[in-house]
Amino acid sequence: MVDQPEFGDERQNAHTLRIVDSAERDQRFERATELFDGLHARNVSVVALTWVDNSGITRTKSVPLRRLAHAAAHGVGASPVFDVFLFDDWIIQGRFAGGPVGDLRLHPDLDRLTVLAGQPGWAWAPADRHFQSGVPYPMDQRLQARKAVRTLAEQGLTARAGFEIEWCVGKTGTEDWVPATSGSAYGHARQVELSDYCVDLLNALDQQDVEVLQFHPEYAPGQFEISTTPEDPVAAADTAVLVKETVRAVTIRHGLRPSFSPKVVNGGVGNGGHLHLSLWRDGTNLFDGFQDEARRFSAGVLTHLRALCAIGCPSLASYLRLVPNTWAAPFVAWGEENRETALRLVRDNLEIKCFDLTANPYLVVAGVIAAGLDGIATGAGLPEGLNVDPALLGDVQRLPTSLKEAVDEFEEDAVLTEAFGRELAGTIADVRRGEMERYKDASPQGIANITRWRH
Ligand code: GLU
Ligand code: MG
Repeated sequence: MVDQPEFGDERQNAHTLRIVDSAERDQRFERATELFDGLHARNVSVVALTWVDNSGITRTKSVPLRRLAHAAAHGVGASPVFDVFLFDDWIIQGRFAGGPVGDLRLHPDLDRLTVLAGQPGWAWAPADRHFQSGVPYPMDQRLQARKAVRTLAEQGLTARAGFEIEWCVGKTGTEDWVPATSGSAYGHARQVELSDYCVDLLNALDQQDVEVLQFHPEYAPGQFEISTTPEDPVAAADTAVLVKETVRAVTIRHGLRPSFSPKVVNGGVGNGGHLHLSLWRDGTNLFDGFQDEARRFSAGVLTHLRALCAIGCPSLASYLRLVPNTWAAPFVAWGEENRETALRLVRDNLEIKCFDLTANPYLVVAGVIAAGLDGIATGAGLPEGLNVDPALLGDVQRLPTSLKEAVDEFEEDAVLTEAFGRELAGTIADVRRGEMERYKDASPQGIANITRWRH
């Protein structure tokens, strides 16, 4: 077993990257066995184990409930080739991944096992990927997020995070985009038209212990948004997956279809996947009063933000969204309650507004923490905040305007590539370049069309 420090926080103790050795296997087997009766009583017959790949798609393998204990102990086999899947299931050959050889094991995180209210008979658990030997797989995205949280903890810091989930509800029976409601932006009519749908969704989340802070109809046709309570960053990424899949399940049961794409229709307002994050030391939120360390953390995020776009705005469709005047916040700047600067300082936390939901949320929290910690380590200074629309100033630097620009910056960013490790960083870049190559002749609307229903 890897030697691990004590962090005095239950969740962070869970972020030890354990080798699943025989003692650990026994423990996991026993734990899952204990869970059996409760799950059976709640009519669970299948457990979905999910992980999110480098192109932001939630992939899965499932086991019958009776097989859960075996899966917990020994994992479920999955090829490492998934690391080079594109969002459209095209497979590339990467420098560090690809090809038919190899096997990893998906180990469900039993702490996060959830009975799915939107899919009767199903439970879900996010999985960590290990080698067959039980050694953690260095390219696993969730383990990467755990590692980042552990690095924070080693410096006496903790973070609380939450993703805002935006999506547009469309009609089925057409690949084209037809919104399911004609209600106005922020209009109560939209909630009236889809009243049962909205209630079923909020009930499902409640039954799954997802604490919703707010729900509202957003700006774009058929668009809604949900924000959830702040939690440990890995848990927040898990919650992002769970909320998306719950939205999907409930939407489909209502005969409708959700799009989480950054740009459902080219030229319209997109779907964001904003990340909120606060930083804590000794029980104090350093964003309360925007204390020095929080400023330096924010400065680190700002410094690395153009490179971080390869993680948080990772698809071709991301760059259809990242334009001024749609509150996608495409400027390298921060501002108090400014909705067009990439970083918006909210009362007690930092919102990174430029990210979208084609991103892998585990990579997002890992990347942001690495960037912020670099800001603290280097004593990075934060420029003046902006209290105007950056577009009016004319000289505020933009975030990348293409995926290529973002990936080039990412590969040159020593802090991020070191944090992710050469193999994972290289594979992320390979996947992005694979997407660029495959759709190099696609029009903006063509890109919106192929991305619309994928994530
Ligand atoms: N839908 C906008 C986006 O693309 C965000 C709107 C908001 O500020 O919540 O990120
Ligand atoms: Mg919003």
